Amino acid sequence: MASIKPLEGRTVHQIQSGQVIVDLCSVAKELVENSLDAGARAIDVRFKSNGLEAIEVQDNGSGISSENYETIALKHYTSKLASYQDLSSIETFGFRGEALSSLCALSKFHIVTAREDEAPKGAKLDFETSGKLKTVSVVACQRGTTICVENLFVNLPVRRRELEKNIKREYSKVLGILQAYACISTQARITVSNVSSKSKKAIAFSTRSNPSTRDNIANVFGAKSLAGLLDMTIDLEMASAEHVEDRRAGSDKDLVRVLGHVSRPGFGEGRQAPDRQMFFVNSRPCNLPQVAKVFNEVYKSYNMAQSPFVFANILLNTNAYDVNVSPDKRTILLHDQGALLESLRSSLTKLFERQDQAVPESRY
Ligand code: ADP
Ligand code: MG
Repeated sequence: MASIKPLEGRTVHQIQSGQVIVDLCSVAKELVENSLDAGARAIDVRFKSNGLEAIEVQDNGSGISSENYETIALKHYTSKLASYQDLSSIETFGFRGEALSSLCALSKFHIVTAREDEAPKGAKLDFETSGKLKTVSVVACQRGTTICVENLFVNLPVRRRELEKNIKREYSKVLGILQAYACISTQARITVSNVSSKSKKAIAFSTRSNPSTRDNIANVFGAKSLAGLLDMTIDLEMASAEHVEDRRAGSDKDLVRVLGHVSRPGFGEGRQAPDRQMFFVNSRPCNLPQVAKVFNEVYKSYNMAQSPFVFANILLNTNAYDVNVSPDKRTILLHDQGALLESLRSSLTKLFERQDQAVPESRY
């Protein structure tokens, strides 16, 4: 048997990076989340050749201060989380400090950034694949940050070929994810465009500075999509996370609220359209297949032939779930999920039954 030796640091970094950034969706998601965390009011996502050549995300957020240039792309360096305890109350999208370091390992990567007091002068930062800062040059730049990822997976030939082969499918998947961010973001307007290889720019969709998710949905999916869309505010009473075990003891209750919009029976889609079903936990887009199943099943009991448009934001205490399950943080573990689903099922049934007296939309 060959002797056991530790892997070289570079190899470990590349392997781990490939687990954080698995596809085009991970890139767009991580960059947009960073922009939202930086307090951006406008985010511009630009793809070149569907993302095969480049993905660039520009924001007008806080910008990066020069004291952080050295560490920004190093693994596990984050400005958002100080200790393990903070994890249970995390309110930013990011907290692991892995995205930028992974992108350095997997692409041709650079940053242009300026803080309020520096604009219109800013800095262009180039990095080594390890995430170490290579050069800083002065450039013209408005307040905010632009992160540019070119030639994704350039040094992972098999994955690059897969990406090339599936780029059309990947691009439509990434649009689906960005639609969810654009619909939920009432603080930031989001524009997504794609420049084809023939240098033709096409806007995929664009939201405005909308105060409501309804307006965002109209901007993203067209005004027609609002027809037959019910507003929903469903309050579910759940045992609090610490007391899940002894629920019968009548201990503390947490209020769980499901806010959003769902098609009125008869106004759904004739086909299953996955991009028309968006789920969020405390405004974080995520995959909630069990919750989706409840919506679809209840809806189908009224209308077999259709699937509903669903936009559902589940608001609950930060200690009642765990986002730390998968590297992309889209898989979320909800404590006491069974009780939540049951309660949701009966509330939805009631909502559809009294659909003509739907609760007016709350602003959030
Ligand atoms: P995380 O988001 O988990 O902290 P990232 O690797 O995504 O890790 O980002 C590292 C750090 O870089 C962030 O903590 C943040 O301080 C800074 N950063 C990244 N993107 C931006 C941006 N668009 N605007 C301002 N700061 C940013
Ligand atoms: Mg991040």
